[in-house]
Amino acid sequence: MNPITAAVLSWYKQNARDLPWRQTKDPFKIWLSEIILQQTKVEQGMPYFHKFAQRFENIQQLANASEDEVLLLWQGLGYYSRARNMLACARKIVKDFDGIFPESVEDLRRLPGIGPYTAAAISSFAFQKSAPAVDGNFNRIISRIFGVKKSKNSSGFQSDIQRIADELIENAPPHIFNQAMMDFGSLVCKPRQALCNQCPVLEYCFAFKNNLVDELPVTPQKKALRNRYFHFGILKLRNQIILSKREEKDIWKNLYQLPLIETSEEQNLNFSPMQFANILNFSSISLIKTSIEIIHKLSHQKIIARFYHFEINDLQQAIVEEKTELYGNVNNYLVTDIEAIKNFAMPQLVKDYLIECGLID
Ligand code: SF4
Repeated sequence: MNPITAAVLSWYKQNARDLPWRQTKDPFKIWLSEIILQQTKVEQGMPYFHKFAQRFENIQQLANASEDEVLLLWQGLGYYSRARNMLACARKIVKDFDGIFPESVEDLRRLPGIGPYTAAAISSFAFQKSAPAVDGNFNRIISRIFGVKKSKNSSGFQSDIQRIADELIENAPPHIFNQAMMDFGSLVCKPRQALCNQCPVLEYCFAFKNNLVDELPVTPQKKALRNRYFHFGILKLRNQIILSKREEKDIWKNLYQLPLIETSEEQNLNFSPMQFANILNFSSISLIKTSIEIIHKLSHQKIIARFYHFEINDLQQAIVEEKTELYGNVNNYLVTDIEAIKNFAMPQLVKDYLIECGLID
């Protein structure tokens, strides 16, 4: 066994984190945890893992769920395409594999939402296949120890890391090696302020010897966030309110929100909230108040949002009419009781505002 691997494994014996999905070899639970933990910290993901594992005992149960239910359970975790892919993946496993998880990295890679890392994680944790689960921890640890100086987005970086990872995992129990690298990357060889003085592989480490710990891995410059201007209308009459479903290919696809008008930077200066009357075909609405500007940052976008509170005068009559008559060509709106809002999966930005202004708990 490679001496670096041996040192990391012996560190792991003393320092392993106790995570609920490590007690199982059930590929369903392992897959669930891996999808939830993509782009999410363990502390934030843990309650969601328990919520999903309690609601769905196996892949069949999940495959039978509606997308609305899955999105509602996922609400607040962000990157909602993970939830939609998770459901698509469950349905494909039931349809094409009789509900039995495939074991090989190659078969797993063909499933929705399963990339090289997740495929290796499932294959090694559930089936003990010798597949290094190369994630950000692997990239960081290996580039520091072995002095990989290529930029993370350059061609060749990932294949260099993969080649070294393949060597390191040889003759090691694969599931333990992968878990050990994850914990070692989270607890010792951390992105910032790595704990080199407590490191079991310090004597092998190129970055430590060359004072390059904070320089490796070489990270490409981040792209500037794209600004988007969202105007949300809170259109209500007594205990009823209008929601809309985001059906376009964009952030928050298939989540519910308040009726929205998006403007460009230039249009934003001249935006008139009375436009809500036009898009929803209301003859009379009255603006009661406007929120302050709320900034909501996503990974590549900055949402600059305002909420406009309206009283509407003809909703009661309108809701008894056909939806198409009510909204003309716009058919993704719906009217609901305010207390039923909690049954709809919503972007956190909208949900937080509705809580803040007292419309929901
Ligand atoms: S010496 Fe520091 S940089 Fe090198 S592997 Fe250990 S913790 Fe990471």
